[in-house]
Amino acid sequence: MFKDIIAIAFPELCVGCQNTLLKAERHLCLSCLTNMSRNTRNSFDNVDVKVFLQANYITGASYLLNFDKKGVVQRIIHQIKYGSNPKLANYMGELMGVSLPKHYFDLIIPVPLHKKRERKRGYNQSLEIAKGIENVTGVSIDSSSFIRTINTESQTKKNKQEREENVYNAFRCLKIDGLTYNRILLVDDVVTTGVTINVCAQTIKSINPQIEIFVYSLAFTKI
Ligand SMILES: [Zn+2]
Repeated sequence: MFKDIIAIAFPELCVGCQNTLLKAERHLCLSCLTNMSRNTRNSFDNVDVKVFLQANYITGASYLLNFDKKGVVQRIIHQIKYGSNPKLANYMGELMGVSLPKHYFDLIIPVPLHKKRERKRGYNQSLEIAKGIENVTGVSIDSSSFIRTINTESQTKKNKQEREENVYNAFRCLKIDGLTYNRILLVDDVVTTGVTINVCAQTIKSINPQIEIFVYSLAFTKI
């Protein structure tokens, strides 16, 4: 009953359009949920993201949503990153889990945040997305074997080239014995240039070249 009173006083609003949500709706209203720009190609052999596969670190890549500037997808990503909304990240991860192209995976690894950044934000958005995928698929997450040792996002004083060079040394595999899996699903929130995700894949493969890495991101920006 207390919950109902709270709901009347502070109704939950749709992240996309700010309209009041119906009881059965979560985070997004039915209209925003159905009108989001989705990736219609349900495959890891995705034409749009082929550019990432050229370096041979990544076996396949896919994503759920097309990034739309000033649209619903942009608002979702902003809420997940800066709106202290890990539950929305879980929910989006569940939608990703439902749409995951049919493949077998041994393990899910979220793209790590630097410790300092994670403390500041309160959570790692990619891990929260991964939890949603785990809920739906039952594939377990390892968020401790692969870490970020350089806080590349905070290096505002460095120029673009220096920042990019730093990304190449930003990640480390800690438990080498733990990464004996064959197929890893590497989860990210948004993939834009693909630099970060390729470096992640390269770092993991340097431990065990037999590992096959599949990238799955919530959103993808066509550049
Ligand atoms: Zn809406």
